[in-house]
Amino acid sequence: MTDDSTGRPSARPREAEPYEPQPHEPEPREPAGGESACLLPLVCEECGALAEARPPAVCWRCSALVDRA
Ligand SMILES: [Zn+2]
Repeated sequence: MTDDSTGRPSARPREAEPYEPQPHEPEPREPAGGESACLLPLVCEECGALAEARPPAVCWRCSALVDRA
């Protein structure tokens, strides 16, 4: 038995810390202009290289016609 139980609470109930919900900041998205989404049609079927121009284009590596549109 401890003296604390005699009516003198030594351990105060900890004050509930106010829960501050932090605002969920949306991830900063840099406007990529949808470039990554449009890269697939630019992939050469022959060698897998990425065409530098929009299809229809000629692959810079194997000179194959890149036209996946
Ligand atoms: Zn190619």
